[in-house]
Amino acid sequence: MRNESLNPEVLPPAAAGPTTTRASSRHAAGTLIDKYGRHITYIRLSITDRCDFRCTYCMAEEMTFLPRDQVLSLEECLRVVRTFVGLGVTKVRITGGEPLVRKNVLWLLERIAALDGLKDLVLTTNGSQLDRYAADLKQAGVKRINVSLDTLRPERFKAITRIGDLDKVLRGIDAAGAAGFTRTKLNTVMMRGVNDDEFVDLVRYAMAHDLNVSFIEEMPLGDVGHGRSNTYYSTDEGLALLSPHFGLVPTVENTGGPARYWRIPGSETRVGFISPHSHNFCDSCNRVRVTAQGELYPCLGQNDAMSLMPLLREGDDDAPLRAAIVRAMGIKPKEHNFTEQLDAPRVVRFMSMTGG
Ligand code: SAM
Ligand code: SF4
Repeated sequence: MRNESLNPEVLPPAAAGPTTTRASSRHAAGTLIDKYGRHITYIRLSITDRCDFRCTYCMAEEMTFLPRDQVLSLEECLRVVRTFVGLGVTKVRITGGEPLVRKNVLWLLERIAALDGLKDLVLTTNGSQLDRYAADLKQAGVKRINVSLDTLRPERFKAITRIGDLDKVLRGIDAAGAAGFTRTKLNTVMMRGVNDDEFVDLVRYAMAHDLNVSFIEEMPLGDVGHGRSNTYYSTDEGLALLSPHFGLVPTVENTGGPARYWRIPGSETRVGFISPHSHNFCDSCNRVRVTAQGELYPCLGQNDAMSLMPLLREGDDDAPLRAAIVRAMGIKPKEHNFTEQLDAPRVVRFMSMTGG
């Protein structure tokens, strides 16, 4: 049940009082194991389905967002994360929609960062609000930030995001550096004929600003009104394009996510590739996702889910919630099969719903 007296939606972060971390019984790390023996130690939580951009690969032009009472309250978000951490999860990514458009997001971040057992609180953002939030995010305990950036050309940026202002995002990236964030990572969705003439420039930008960059193969999530096979661009093509410019050297470095990384001799910048089509990484998948609606999706690329919302709203006892999460590991599928769905997505949720 929602505790209105603690409801952070109506309190400014500074007035929201001390951390409400409950002394939940901690389970040994590795409690969450699926039927293929994979340990789940990482969750991605979408705290809103809303966004101030409408990226063409992520959303339809006209979107209907969830009514507010169907979105997890910040208290409920905290309870979900606390329960997962109690089950051995050590890394949490806050995402969306655009997480920084959620009111009082800092209230939540401060409390998640303070959870006993959590090692890594990270955030994925489109960067639109980063110039005003960067210092507070650092202060709240966010360890690293990913910023989505598909182009360095203002007109193209506007076309891809349908709304966004490139300058504001670039200012946000600078603000993250000034606030003390290191190894901020750019996420670039590779799209043939849209931004493939800028991959070299994006790597140069990353090197000049001490950033990492990951190139992502576009996934068929939700019906965005256009097929994706025409624009699909593979990791191997990206590597072949970039290697002559930067002499990329493969590494075994891992940040606990799906990217594989390459080094540039003489530079700290890492170039990553996330290859859901061409190099299936499901064997080593260590993560699950929770949507803003409280649905637990064990796999981004499948429709199996468990709704946590009824358990969150029926009472304060965490035991049924914990049991449901453990049970949900049983429905984590072996793998996704995106490639055969490029022009006919079988996953009807937009990426903004599930959280990237
Ligand atoms: N709004 C934030 C942002 O853009 O970073 C966080 C949410 S967004 C859904 C998370 C990531 O998913 C972004 O890096 C975005 O580029 C990526 N993404 C969205 N739709 C995608 C798709 N169809 N295929 C691959 N990546 C996608
Ligand atoms: Fe919004 Fe991120 Fe989706 Fe773009 S990718 S529409 S910024 S949620």
